[in-house]
Amino acid sequence: MSLEKTLDLFRQIAESTVREEAPLVDKEAKWPEQSMRRLQREGLGGFVVPQESGGLGEGLLGLAQACELLGEESASAGLCFGMHCVGTAMIAAKATDYQKKNFLEPIAAGEHLTTLALSEPGTGAHFYYPQTQLLSVSESEFMLKGEKTFVTNGGKADSYVISTMGVDPEALLHEFSCVVVEADREGIQWGADWNGIGMRGNSSRSLALQQVKVPAQNLLGQQGDQLWYVFQVVAPYFLTAMSGTYLGVAQAAFNEAREHLMNRSYRHSGMSLSQNQLLQHRLGMLWAKVERTRQLIYNACRQYDSGDPMAVLSIISSKAEVAHCAVDVVNEAMTLSGGIAYRENSRFEVLLRDARAAHVMAPTTDMLYTWLGRALLEQLILDS
Ligand SMILES: Cc1cc2nc3c(=O)[nH]c(=O)nc-3n(C[C@H](O)[C@H](O)[C@H](O)COP(=O)(O)OP(=O)(O)OC[C@H]3O[C@@H](n4cnc5c(N)ncnc54)[C@H](O)[C@@H]3O)c2cc1C
Repeated sequence: MSLEKTLDLFRQIAESTVREEAPLVDKEAKWPEQSMRRLQREGLGGFVVPQESGGLGEGLLGLAQACELLGEESASAGLCFGMHCVGTAMIAAKATDYQKKNFLEPIAAGEHLTTLALSEPGTGAHFYYPQTQLLSVSESEFMLKGEKTFVTNGGKADSYVISTMGVDPEALLHEFSCVVVEADREGIQWGADWNGIGMRGNSSRSLALQQVKVPAQNLLGQQGDQLWYVFQVVAPYFLTAMSGTYLGVAQAAFNEAREHLMNRSYRHSGMSLSQNQLLQHRLGMLWAKVERTRQLIYNACRQYDSGDPMAVLSIISSKAEVAHCAVDVVNEAMTLSGGIAYRENSRFEVLLRDARAAHVMAPTTDMLYTWLGRALLEQLILDS
């Protein structure tokens, strides 16, 4: 299926199931079960699975556009689907035959959901320095001990891509490992439900790993080559999933403001707000902000998909910029929509709460600009 046709399918699902489920997802902090299951049923679970493993083999541009369409209706649905794709891309990057058969093929068949568990309470925004231990039990088995936080799709996925310290006690801080852990392994304990002010359907829960044993075959790549994953897979896919989702949030706010200006007219003058020159100007500026962010994101994705080594800088800028774009556009669109936008449970209330997560989701906006500056000054991107 061409990307264009696949995106049409995303649009249909977003405008029906995702839209219908969205109010409950926010109100009751409900994981978007119906949306996620429909995406899987319609063959989109394997969106980024390579074609040789039965997937659609899409890259970053597709991921950004898919998350944008979902995020326009529900930021939680966009991020839950996006995190499934990030976990999938991590598994696919250096998949062994065992991992293809046990993870990628079921993902492509819509029978398996995965996700990424990097963040930890001890290292917070510095997600690339995990403290979770990976201990060697035997040649064929590892044991995990540690704690993860904010695991999106927590308790809902069939497997978790988990970052850990290196097995070798001499391993340096950045020489960590990643393993894929099936949800039904003994020793997995979930914390309380996620109760954020926004992104309320994410099921971003904390996870205690209490001596969880996994087969050595579940190790992704080689021990110690995980910094490669951070810049080649985690950063591009994770940042793009978020960029697409929050671009969707900004677009949704723009649409609401445009609707209001089109439909609101005054009894005393008979004039529509759409005829007011100041408001026309402000709406034009709003559109330009959304569109230039969209072009930055799409261009970064095209760079990555074509193998440009400079793509990572554009991807980093995209997520920093879209965080500002989403928060600013929602705020400004609210002003254009007047008092009605300020009522409890309005669409804007949800958009405002959802947009605000963009800045704090790691890599956070401050860290992204610092990484950019360091790279431009020919310094190592990550701090010690
Ligand atoms: C809705 C939501 C969903 C999430 N989903 C996932 C997920 O699926 N998987 C996952 O692994 N994580 C996920 N996260 C975790 C997210 O990435 C964390 O919020 C992030 O790691 C920040 O950690 P912290 O809250 O401990 O912040 P802290 O580490 O306490 O940081 C606080 C502030 O200090 C700033 N700061 C710290 N160090 C520096 C520095 N060196 N330079 C500049 N600024 C700095 C940070 O930028 C931040 O603004 C999610 C978070 C949210 C809110």
